[in-house]
Amino acid sequence: MSFSTLGLSPEILLAIGGQHYSDPTPIQSAAIPHILQGHDVIAEAQTGSGKTLAFCAPLVQSLKKSVRPRVIQYLILVPTRDLATQVAMTLEALTKNTTPSIKLAVLFGGVSINPQMLHLRGGADIVIATPGRLLDLIDHNALSLSFVRSLVLDEADRLLELGFAEELQRILNLLPVARQNLLFSATFAPLLNELATKLCQSPVRIQVPATE
Ligand code: ADP
Ligand code: MG
Repeated sequence: MSFSTLGLSPEILLAIGGQHYSDPTPIQSAAIPHILQGHDVIAEAQTGSGKTLAFCAPLVQSLKKSVRPRVIQYLILVPTRDLATQVAMTLEALTKNTTPSIKLAVLFGGVSINPQMLHLRGGADIVIATPGRLLDLIDHNALSLSFVRSLVLDEADRLLELGFAEELQRILNLLPVARQNLLFSATFAPLLNELATKLCQSPVRIQVPATE
């Protein structure tokens, strides 16, 4: 399987080539075509299997470009600051040469909220956030989720383990009902399965068996 068979655009393929990845991982091969088609996807694959690129590449390709003011089209929720930074790095690598430019906002707690509020003035195309800080910023009227087209829950199992269920629910209530839902996780415990079922419309379920 090669990246060029997955429906990705030349621009994205070039950006992936720049990362020196020769072939897609199994989760990338399985998930990318469905995400490009706009399906909801519930994906289970072990840590280190390449889940970040699996959702970032098709989302960057499907972004509607050149909007002013910029509206948030994608919301990627992550459990920790480290993960927010990692996802942002993957997105930056995919978007650094795109014209018009794509603006990311990386939002997490434990640091001052003011620079994040300032950064959000004039909008953003993609937000990567931990739930608590996102809600703080919403309470400060720093951003709107009214135009989100796709929601990603990355490391969804950890989002629930870390007690973000209530925050998640508040955020879900602020999103447009018609949207794409993408859940990525290393494990699917019953509670997460329940959330996934509630969230997703006829989802494509992908399970990549763990390898040693
Ligand atoms: P996960 O989210 O499933 O834990 P990551 O997306 O963090 O995994 O990826 C794990 C590592 O694999 C990262 O260092 C990433 O750069 C690398 N990686 C991602 N896709 C590929 C690929 N197609 N080929 C080789 N390495 C890859
Ligand atoms: Mg990951």
